[in-house]
Amino acid sequence: MHVAIVGAGIVGLSTAWELQQRGHTVQVFDPAPVSEASFAAAGMLAPVSEVVWDQPTLYPLMAQSKQLYPALVASVTEASGMDVGYLTSETLVCAGDAADRVTLSELVELQSEIGAVERLTATQARRMEPALGPGVLGAVHIPGDHQIDPRKFCAALLHLLGDCVVREEVVRVDTQVRTSTSSYAADHIVVAAGLHTADIAGLPALPLRPVYGDVLRLNVPAHLQPLISRTVRAVVRGRPVYLVPRSDGTVVLGATSREDGPGVSAEGVHQLLRDAHHILPSLWECTIAEMTARARPGSPDDVPMIGRIATNTTVSTGYFRHGILLAAIGAKLTADIVLGVQIPAETAAAINPFRFEEKR
Ligand SMILES: Cc1cc2nc3c(=O)[nH]c(=O)nc-3n(C[C@H](O)[C@H](O)[C@H](O)COP(=O)(O)OP(=O)(O)OC[C@H]3O[C@@H](n4cnc5c(N)ncnc54)[C@H](O)[C@@H]3O)c2cc1C
Repeated sequence: MHVAIVGAGIVGLSTAWELQQRGHTVQVFDPAPVSEASFAAAGMLAPVSEVVWDQPTLYPLMAQSKQLYPALVASVTEASGMDVGYLTSETLVCAGDAADRVTLSELVELQSEIGAVERLTATQARRMEPALGPGVLGAVHIPGDHQIDPRKFCAALLHLLGDCVVREEVVRVDTQVRTSTSSYAADHIVVAAGLHTADIAGLPALPLRPVYGDVLRLNVPAHLQPLISRTVRAVVRGRPVYLVPRSDGTVVLGATSREDGPGVSAEGVHQLLRDAHHILPSLWECTIAEMTARARPGSPDDVPMIGRIATNTTVSTGYFRHGILLAAIGAKLTADIVLGVQIPAETAAAINPFRFEEKR
């Protein structure tokens, strides 16, 4: 089969790689590969610490995707010879005050249904991460929540796909992929243009919404290295904050959530720095290397929309705040749907792009 893929974020690229691995040819269309959500993402592969109440169809997808990651990373690393920034260092989730500690202990029960979780006192947490400040009142240790560097991973995929990537914007999808100057034929078309899937002519309207997040990348001075040796997440007066340490000694700090417009938010940056400083006081000695804001492609129930929308067209979008984690399962399911491989009925119902219409 020859498959055309619209969008070179992590979802489009991973799907292209999956299809190539299964022996098919691909072309990926994107005027600016890896410039949207996948560019900003921290890259936490965190099925346990990302759990929130009442998302029963999301948990199995997150857990399965986490299981698929080591093989995906191995195949991309081996074929490209490039480091993709995959680290199996674990995660600590800290409480910033007494009410946050109650919030965390309520979630532990649900989290432990998905993976290993251990409650820690503040002293035990500080033994693991000596930079934690006196503001930390307790923590949860999640050894199985890991990370990847999405920019490095996508760079390796782009390298592997080489000339299969066509740097053109797709304006219409019907029986062919149409840019403003050319039309491209394919046996099947996958639309994985994240939030912008909704802007491409010829496709049914999908209920996508932008949920913007601010992310800071920080340089840590030599005398503080490593500032932290595992991902440190926290709830500080009800607000989430996370710090993800990269292998080069930098730290990624995120992430706010708002639906009211692009651009790095001054309030968002202030909130992130204030809350992160409450957890890690020595953060004040770091310098800011980068501030970025991008939109997460949100769906109404936070679960991706993956499925056929026409005989020769499949969409794969709506990955919201878990698209890096879910890219592994998303690529597999999308490839299965394209190739007519049957997927479990429960999964198909959970990700059906038309499930919201059926509810109305
Ligand atoms: C601040 C922030 C932090 C995040 N942190 C995490 C995290 O730690 N862990 C996690 O699992 N997830 C995280 N996410 C979510 C994750 O980044 C997204 O779910 C994921 O990147 C979505 O990937 P995508 O490929 O669907 O979309 P995108 O990465 O948005 O890519 C869409 C691509 O489509 C292209 N495109 C758009 N329109 C067209 C067109 N007309 N023609 C051709 N191409 C087009 C764009 O140029 C873009 O390259 C985060 C997101 C944000 C914003």
